[in-house]
Amino acid sequence: MNRSRANRKVLVLPGDGIGPEIMREVMRVFEFFDRRNIARFDVGEGLVGGAAYEASGTPLTDDTLAEAMASDAVLFGSVGGPKWEALPFELRPERGLLRLRKEMDLFANLRPAVVFDALADASALKRDLVAGLDLMIVRELTGGIYFGEPRGVETMPDGTRRGINTEVYTEAEIERVLRAGFDLAMKRQRRLCEVDKANVMESGGLWREVAERVHADYPQVELSFMYADNCAMQLVRNPKQFDVIVTSNLFGDILSDCAAMLTGSLGMLPSASLGAADASGRRKALYEPVHGSAPDIAGKNLANPLACILSFAMMLRYSFDLANEASLVEDAVRRALAAGVRTADILSPNTARVSTRVMGDTILRELEKVA
Ligand code: NAD
Repeated sequence: MNRSRANRKVLVLPGDGIGPEIMREVMRVFEFFDRRNIARFDVGEGLVGGAAYEASGTPLTDDTLAEAMASDAVLFGSVGGPKWEALPFELRPERGLLRLRKEMDLFANLRPAVVFDALADASALKRDLVAGLDLMIVRELTGGIYFGEPRGVETMPDGTRRGINTEVYTEAEIERVLRAGFDLAMKRQRRLCEVDKANVMESGGLWREVAERVHADYPQVELSFMYADNCAMQLVRNPKQFDVIVTSNLFGDILSDCAAMLTGSLGMLPSASLGAADASGRRKALYEPVHGSAPDIAGKNLANPLACILSFAMMLRYSFDLANEASLVEDAVRRALAAGVRTADILSPNTARVSTRVMGDTILRELEKVA
């Protein structure tokens, strides 16, 4: 097992709603790792979203942004809530997250779909199709049709209107997200499927060309191609055929939500957003649960902290190369679920409903058994 190195700088941003509650449980895992000398981190904490707005009138201060830029990884809870919904767009809590993503240039969004055996019945699909599922969708996050120009709605000379959005990708944008995907595949089962609509979109043809070229640097990875419509079908027909899927912003948006449903619960889904690698191979990175701030249950000790704890595990694996330590955490989650311990969102017959804190206690107890 890797031993401690204190130069791993992490900025923790709990945010709003259930964010602080679930992050408190993650902090206990940080402390456990430190106490047991498993891995040490230099952890800073900051405000973001509504909490930052209340303290300083903006959802992300320049100081917090500077700290994020200087960190190896940012661990983010969730932002938003009814209290701030009437604010002007630029001051809304969600702008804090969007600004972080933009300034850190986080262009690769990683959405794993992992099905824990004990939760396989919560999936929308039959158990045998999803039990043991472990796939990763890498979605390009900063380019493509959501940002391409020209865009807008224009009135034609005959008075009718038309809406325009443009799928634009430079080779460099395609290459960097593919490289992030190949790097990930090297840490997983070494299979990468590039997904596009090259049959009807020229930009898709370019994605394929670039994928072939980048593949030359990763000969150990098996590369395949699939059209996006077929991929949507295959995800619900036989999702276990995939290891890493890399695709554009638009297709990734849709396919990652589809894959999320294979796993059954929002409270279980972690994610990561990665930036460019520097000379030492280290990337800017932000890890966060997929769910929002859940104002309906905030402050009630009901939230499921596992998506946030699994985001922490992703950070260990992808930012710090601590694969064994990440497995320790993921195995602790697996065993807690297998023992029938459940927060309300993942409750099923013959399982025990517990609070956020007790789920955290259970994860720590499971960690203590093996670490
Ligand atoms: P949400 O994800 O917060 O909640 C949807 C439903 O899932 C709610 O019923 C909630 O109680 C439940 N839920 C979510 N996470 C849970 C958990 N960990 N444990 C148990 N139950 C959980 O989505 P929403 O209600 O559409 O949005 C609420 C607020 O969150 C809004 O202000 C929205 O803008 C914000 N939001 C933030 C992010 C983010 O911070 N990345 C993402 C999505 C939404």
